[in-house]
Amino acid sequence: MLLHSNNIMQPAIDIFDGTNHSAHYHVLQEAITQLSQFKPGLQRRDFKKGKSLVDFLVSKVHQNSGRVELKELINTAFGYTPFQVPTQKIMLINQQGYHNGIIHRGLTGGFQPDDQGNGPNRQTIALSTVGSTLDEFYAIACHELGHIYGATRFRDHNIEITNNSIHCIEEMCAMHHPAYNRGTSFRRAHKSPMYCNDCQDGLRDF
Ligand SMILES: [Zn+2]
Ligand SMILES: [Zn+2]
Repeated sequence: MLLHSNNIMQPAIDIFDGTNHSAHYHVLQEAITQLSQFKPGLQRRDFKKGKSLVDFLVSKVHQNSGRVELKELINTAFGYTPFQVPTQKIMLINQQGYHNGIIHRGLTGGFQPDDQGNGPNRQTIALSTVGSTLDEFYAIACHELGHIYGATRFRDHNIEITNNSIHCIEEMCAMHHPAYNRGTSFRRAHKSPMYCNDCQDGLRDF
């Protein structure tokens, strides 16, 4: 297969793993591999002090508001140097120690574009590992990755605004809201496409 020259310069994904066990980290790698089918050349890097940085951010946000809302967590992260470099970023959050009002509106994934006008190369995802099965977590990871890599971003058809974001109307697509569906386990087990054809095109074109 010939790779388009643009594909060589995909913005890297920096991973900040705030979890204690590797289960969710490995599922995240599966989701990135799934995305790589449509974004060849995608690079991933582990931020070495990810755990201590995520722990710090989570406790800071918890101190401020008595809970950890993913959106607030991401906004807080933007204030710190490792989050200011031009890469895509994923935070894996284990909020097990924070039982009060942990998860933003019951969601376990959230993405936030950089609001400084720096474009698509600087977006951040926070994924909570609490309260979802690994299959659900996989669907959510594919979904949030799809958001920062433009799966639905520039589309004018087969999309809808749900949960304040642009989502795909195709129910079996990872970019549908909610992302998890009855086909997720099978697709994860068989490494088959999680995105519908339109969303695959969106990813390729972004
Ligand atoms: Zn979404
Ligand atoms: Zn779709």
